[in-house]
Amino acid sequence: MKKKLLTLTMTGAIILGGTSISSPIVNAVGNGPNYGGNETVNTSILTTYQEMVDFLEKQEAKQDQMELEVIGQTMQGRDIHLVKYLFNPDNPTVLFLTQQHGNEQLTTEGALEFIKHLGTGKTKGVLENVNVLVLPMLNADGAMGDVDISLDDYIADGDRHLTRYNKVGEDLNRDHIDKIYPETQALHENVLQAYNIDYMIDLHHQGAQRVINDDELVSGSILYPTSPNADAEVLENSKRLGAVVYDAIDSKGWGHIGKYVGGTAETIGRNGIAVEYGISTLLFEMRGMSDHYRENYVLGQKSNGYLIKQTITTLDAAVRAIADGSINEKDISFWDTLPEQTTRDTE
Ligand SMILES: [Zn+2]
Repeated sequence: MKKKLLTLTMTGAIILGGTSISSPIVNAVGNGPNYGGNETVNTSILTTYQEMVDFLEKQEAKQDQMELEVIGQTMQGRDIHLVKYLFNPDNPTVLFLTQQHGNEQLTTEGALEFIKHLGTGKTKGVLENVNVLVLPMLNADGAMGDVDISLDDYIADGDRHLTRYNKVGEDLNRDHIDKIYPETQALHENVLQAYNIDYMIDLHHQGAQRVINDDELVSGSILYPTSPNADAEVLENSKRLGAVVYDAIDSKGWGHIGKYVGGTAETIGRNGIAVEYGISTLLFEMRGMSDHYRENYVLGQKSNGYLIKQTITTLDAAVRAIADGSINEKDISFWDTLPEQTTRDTE
């Protein structure tokens, strides 16, 4: 039954092309997990892959400085897009990457909004001093639930399920050494090796019940590369990038940042990309996922607003601090006291 709904709705979305949030949807039954008495988890309000492509093409037509490049295809044949603002090759370059994991979509929603901002003059003068690359929705097959693995036990309602994994059920963010999958290959060959990138923020979503300081829920968590093979200067600049993001988010009423607890494996982008290319990386994990089979991983859509805003604020702050050089003055000692998050629920 779910399969049938999915087919109907995907056809509808393609015909409608470009219309987004208010598109008519074929509703599945029920309201999904109920957090706080009134939150639902529904994937129909999320931008589809095709809507994203339509949006990017429109923005490219509108924005003089923006360039759109297809850097490869997913396993299911979807074009992977890179958004480029390259003003001067001598400027520092930052890459924002979203949705290596297909079920972590609000980062992409925020990145698209940020791209729109770059075309409105809100960041006037900034793009002359920093090159910006945005790769939204690397795992488009997972984001569209167009995979060979069963998603029957995923719990969100809506017209499609979203999954962490790629077509064949593999995790792209464990493929940064072997580079087996076309999505990872496209990222490495046509972005990481093709541009002289200084900084990268790898945007994700984590479980919805992560806490610091006596059970206070976080809006997200951050971490620098923790591989022992990361160059000291690369690491220091990663920590500075973290300071920029922390200062921008934690000062907001809705922002509350913990330290992500992560391993040293270089199969993970945060570590592997820092070591292989000398890029200063920051992992940013937003609160809660768009879909999952575990209830304590998903988050009701009432939180979408501040989480999208958190992404926009992050990208905006990073671009400005790199452009004006203030990132180089950042105090990184906050990392020593930033509390490591723990998980509230038993998982
Ligand atoms: Zn992730």
